[in-house]
Amino acid sequence: MSEPLFGCIEAGGTKFVLGVARAHDRVLRTHRVPTTGPRETIDAALAFFDEAAREWGAYTAFGIASFGPVDLDRRSLDWGRITDTPKPGWSGTDLAGAFGAAFDCPVGFDTDVNGAALAEHLWGACVGADVATYVTVGTGIGGGALVEERPLHGARHPEMGHVYPRRHADDRDFAGICPFHGDCLEGLASGPAIQARWGCSLSDLPSGHEAHAIIASYLAQLFVTQQALLSPRRIVLGGGVMATPGLIERVRDEAARLAGGYFGTPDYAALVVPPGLGDRAGLLGALALAQRAAR
Ligand code: ZN
Repeated sequence: MSEPLFGCIEAGGTKFVLGVARAHDRVLRTHRVPTTGPRETIDAALAFFDEAAREWGAYTAFGIASFGPVDLDRRSLDWGRITDTPKPGWSGTDLAGAFGAAFDCPVGFDTDVNGAALAEHLWGACVGADVATYVTVGTGIGGGALVEERPLHGARHPEMGHVYPRRHADDRDFAGICPFHGDCLEGLASGPAIQARWGCSLSDLPSGHEAHAIIASYLAQLFVTQQALLSPRRIVLGGGVMATPGLIERVRDEAARLAGGYFGTPDYAALVVPPGLGDRAGLLGALALAQRAAR
């Protein structure tokens, strides 16, 4: 039997990262296409995978780790589609169907953050953790959860960026930027929310600026909430905002303070960690979904 070949798609709101791989340590080729309209973006991705197939043969399966919201219910007629999104033109787009039909193979489909949580569980920072979460803080805030080694779906999928944190005493006046909720976590602590308040990114502000403590306090609340709701063994924290020097340390310290000695977590440095797979967690998440779909 020939070696399996997997098509991997990290479908993001600003770019699609594409990869062809035989295994997590054998990624043969990658490519990026900007996320424009759905037809144009999908056609560009199909062209990349077509060309790769001429070189390496037929695909065993595809994996798609997508921006949301998405329909993950296998019994639904809309499984594999983006659902209602403010992103122009994308509501209802059939992502899984486009690639499954083009290459006549099974497709694994999940949120980008559930995929990343799965990849971190298999090959990264969450190996051995039966319950773990992956949170990205960037253009938006999203979180995926792995429970008993399976991505958590339920009625839809977790939307961890849209919890309401307690407001910081020095941040009472900002209304927040979430179009649905105003001052939910994403509305207060995402990259665009930081930009809206202070006119630059967090890493461009001096380390003594109050913004660092404010953002750390909001993110820490999410992690203490996760401890209360899910009891994770590991919380992986990625995304552009988390590249801010010193931020993860502030978040850990603030989470420990907020937890008040509860949850039996003496060491927040072991609980809240950066991605073991770095910026490859998304694409390898898609690979993990493809491998599961092939079984
Ligand atoms: Zn919101």
